[in-house]
Amino acid sequence: MNKQAEKMGKIPFSAIRNVFSEVEKLRSEGKEIISLGIGEPDFGTPEHICEAMIEATRKGATRYTPNKGIPELREAIIKKLKNDNGVSYELEEIICTVGVAEGVFVALSAFLDPGDEVLVPDPSWLNYTHVPTLNQASPIYYPLLAEKDFQIDVEELEKKITDKTKILVVLDPSNPTGGVQRKESLEKVAEFVIKHDLLVISDEIYEKLIYDGNEHISIASLPGMRERTIILNGFAKAYAMTGWRLGYIAAPMELIPPMAKMHAYVLTNASSMVQWGGVRALEGPQDNVEEMVKEFKERRDFMVKAINEIEGLSCPTPGGAFYLFVDVEKTGMTGEEFSKFLLNNAGVAVIPGTAFGTRAVNEVRISYATSMENLEKAAARMKDSIEKLNI
Ligand code: PMP
Repeated sequence: MNKQAEKMGKIPFSAIRNVFSEVEKLRSEGKEIISLGIGEPDFGTPEHICEAMIEATRKGATRYTPNKGIPELREAIIKKLKNDNGVSYELEEIICTVGVAEGVFVALSAFLDPGDEVLVPDPSWLNYTHVPTLNQASPIYYPLLAEKDFQIDVEELEKKITDKTKILVVLDPSNPTGGVQRKESLEKVAEFVIKHDLLVISDEIYEKLIYDGNEHISIASLPGMRERTIILNGFAKAYAMTGWRLGYIAAPMELIPPMAKMHAYVLTNASSMVQWGGVRALEGPQDNVEEMVKEFKERRDFMVKAINEIEGLSCPTPGGAFYLFVDVEKTGMTGEEFSKFLLNNAGVAVIPGTAFGTRAVNEVRISYATSMENLEKAAARMKDSIEKLNI
């Protein structure tokens, strides 16, 4: 009996998850697969954060909390946003969420009516395509191009705007390109957004994973932007806390009520003890973050060099996140064909670019959030199997 809502037929299961299922299948057949597919740090959560969560649990942090989260966590988030991003918020302007994933759902669902349009980067993390569709709104792609250093191009945005456009999504640094927006690019975007009276959802989850002296700038900190920007950020990537499911929304008070309602009905509150771990993450020592970033940079440098030395492959050096966006066109394969080829011939899993939109047909995303040993092995296997193609 198929009684599913029509809208559910319009969204696929995640193409990233499909790669993982394939990896699991091959592993169960005894094949040794190196996964460069997953987007999560391979480090453990720092010990002091785990301790804070355990201690809080023992002390009774086992009950419902206020919908928006415990004041201690919201205060710590406010301090972080002021110090790191130069934007000031009040306690009631912060909502703690169950991962940034919940923040994405809540922020889009609270503002989208059927027929509305959202400008979404192509390529981008999948949720920004499918959550609008679930709300019977339309994701409208704007391109991020390697030849433009993945900067947002306002001319492209101008081509896509209609009287139905309500929200612009900015992912900075980006999944899957690793690109970081420069201040001049964001200033032009801000001008565009103000001119067309749009809301911005600014996903800043990778802000701490940034290299080569690049600087993360929150678009909310630019003149006239705080009042129209919803910042989404969280703990998963910076503190290696993907499984904890903790994030937050920061927005001006006028935008908060619909999101607070949606959050209260869907999740009630983020887990009580997990929020105490979040307090410690923000207020405790930050050297684990620095060490992790240093390690990621070494891996990035190794992998960018290794990829560009393989005939047929090329990728720019990304300024942030832990992804490489690799052009595979010269192998004669599309990204989808190439990722299948690599899985079956080299035992290396990567994600085809088309998992992230429509544009990146000839690209694949490689995550370097795995050990140097795995990266060395993966690069050697890729080189071998591609050399056999004799391109
Ligand atoms: N935003 C982006 C851009 C992401 O890449 C991801 C995870 N891959 C998320 C949000 C989800 O974050 P969380 O684990 O906090 O839900």
